[in-house]
Amino acid sequence: MNVHDSERLRGLLETAGFESTEVIDDADLVLINTCSVRERAQEKLFARLDRFNGKSRESRPTIAVTGCVAQQEGAKILERSPLVDVVVGTQALTALPKLVLRAEQESVPQINIEPYDSVSFPLGIAVRKDPVKAYVSIIEGCNDFCSYCVVPYTRGHERMRPAFEIIDEIAEAVASGRTEIHLLGQIVNHYQAPDIEKCGFSELLARIDRIAGVSRIRFASPHPRHVTTRVIDAIRDLPSVCKHLHLPAQSGSTRTLERMRRRYTRDDYLRLVEKIRRAIPRIALSTDMIVGFPGESREDFAETLSLTQEVGFKSMFSFKYSERPNTLAQKRMPDDVSEVEKGFRLTELQRLQQGIQLSLNKEMLGQTVEVLVEATSRRRNNEMFGRTTGNTVVNFPGEQRWVGQLANVKIERIGPNSVWGRVFDV
Ligand code: SAH
Ligand code: SF4
Repeated sequence: MNVHDSERLRGLLETAGFESTEVIDDADLVLINTCSVRERAQEKLFARLDRFNGKSRESRPTIAVTGCVAQQEGAKILERSPLVDVVVGTQALTALPKLVLRAEQESVPQINIEPYDSVSFPLGIAVRKDPVKAYVSIIEGCNDFCSYCVVPYTRGHERMRPAFEIIDEIAEAVASGRTEIHLLGQIVNHYQAPDIEKCGFSELLARIDRIAGVSRIRFASPHPRHVTTRVIDAIRDLPSVCKHLHLPAQSGSTRTLERMRRRYTRDDYLRLVEKIRRAIPRIALSTDMIVGFPGESREDFAETLSLTQEVGFKSMFSFKYSERPNTLAQKRMPDDVSEVEKGFRLTELQRLQQGIQLSLNKEMLGQTVEVLVEATSRRRNNEMFGRTTGNTVVNFPGEQRWVGQLANVKIERIGPNSVWGRVFDV
């Protein structure tokens, strides 16, 4: 979501006449787009600002801070770092160019952290980084208030983007060669079109599937509570919807889930997994997990391990609990699992998950899989990589001109995080 906000911010600035540079010393304006979902992400802002310490206003660029830390801290950012000239919250992105110009002309810091209901965004402005994938926002904000989560405070209440705007943006992305569409939202499967009657998430998927040129659709994140039979059927039946579901569990312990206010139990989650797999046997499931949530006992954590084992996730993002401002957990639940213990739990969970990934990837040996070629591998020049419909990263010798095409790859070697193979058909 933040990567896509940066693509939008870049587009707004380029439209206003700015040009981007990779060399920070050449920059007249430095924009820092921030995340505050965990404390460490938030601290990165101040680490980045440190490099401008001691420089006079004339010898340094204009500095703008956008995103969730901007929204959360507002004018307090200026107290901690008087170097900042512009602070723009999550809902006022389009105001950025105007505020930058005003800050430069008037030499007075400019702040806009107002909430806005409209989530429309001008068509064709975002400067998309990836030549194959396009991020498309469908919902902004969240009303769920999970007890650990800062998002409802930083991104505001849930607002749906008009379906016609989403569809126009996808058509535009496809026309520029981007055939893999990533739908973005905090709870994507809560989508209800404000402009079309009876158009929920599954109907939206169906409408996107019909857009000529869309080869793949992915989305993040669905909430387990809203994975209805219709959503499962849509994933199964629509050819361009990838057979991969990122289904954040957060914990395997019902006691912890209740205190997290996730509104499902361990059994609900496992029953849902069974239902999804009955409908789509080969679907890949991935998840997010938090370790060391307040009051999480060794027994609770053991349930996270056993759920992980039982489901067999193809991949996982796992995090140490980080106390966030304004949240229910911060107000009512002392952060009582020590940092050292959180570290142990994270390592143990990640070790288990690596083993699971290795054995799932082993099943791919000798198979031929269809891969959408994404880019040259970061490590080797003559190696390309792409992903299967199930989101497994596949590396193979190949040519730059294959980027954006579908290739059939026979898997010859595997690791826990990706696999290697040979192409025999592009
Ligand atoms: N809307 C998504 C999650 C968005 S935040 C959902 O409901 O699944 C992305 C992930 O960050 C979460 O899934 C959670 O695992 C993690 N996260 C959020 N708040 C956190 C916190 N306070 N400490 C640690 N991890 C957190
Ligand atoms: Fe945060 Fe919960 Fe909303 Fe996800 S559903 S963004 S975890 S409050």
